[in-house]
Amino acid sequence: MIETQIYAARRILVVGAHAFDAEVIAGPMAFVAAAGGAEVTFLHLTMGEQGHRCLAPALYAEQKRGEAGEAAALLGARWRGLDLPDAFLPDDEATALRVCDVIRELRPEVVVTHWKGSWHKDHRAACELTKNGVFYAALPTLERALPAHSPGLLLFGENWEDDEGFEPQHLVDVTPGFAPWRAAAEKYELARGLSSFPYMDYYASLYRLRGCLRGSTYAQAFMTMSHSWNAGAGLFMPPVGSGAQR
Ligand SMILES: [Zn+2]
Repeated sequence: MIETQIYAARRILVVGAHAFDAEVIAGPMAFVAAAGGAEVTFLHLTMGEQGHRCLAPALYAEQKRGEAGEAAALLGARWRGLDLPDAFLPDDEATALRVCDVIRELRPEVVVTHWKGSWHKDHRAACELTKNGVFYAALPTLERALPAHSPGLLLFGENWEDDEGFEPQHLVDVTPGFAPWRAAAEKYELARGLSSFPYMDYYASLYRLRGCLRGSTYAQAFMTMSHSWNAGAGLFMPPVGSGAQR
């Protein structure tokens, strides 16, 4: 069961396109995992610095760095950024290798990122960069500063901008994480009414809706890669438990 696998992980990495994305696709889950002893890291590929109507991008990036720090602390997580440009997140090999290096450094058992079906180009890029970063991280013949590492589980979280083809395949109980998530998310001006989109109403309702179906007060939904991806990701692992050996 995905829920058991997530909460058994000792290290979890959540990759978001903009600061605040990681917190909504996996924030409540992150709190529960961290409270159980896991090391959870949010990787904000960009700070989302183009998203303020009045503040210049450099000033808003500085504000969001502060907000990201306060939010991560409330969720028991750490955060880091790659300082890539908002709205121009490069979907290229060099950036995927930077994600690979973070994965090799942190060695997460679970990686979470955006679902591919997004109208936002940075979100689509973040999904591709993470998939390719996981692939490169696992390649033992790819020489980087640190040795290869293969996360056991790659998940896609739920984000209002990534709803094309998203199916709530796996529902994870995040009930204890809801109140801390609300406090963390509200550290961001974005959540307090900067945008026309009612973020807090949307996500609070969404987690409750998923909880109704999960049989818990609150839940988060995730998708996984295909069976062939999961089998393929294990190609670089020692051949244990194959059908041929039984
Ligand atoms: Zn975003």
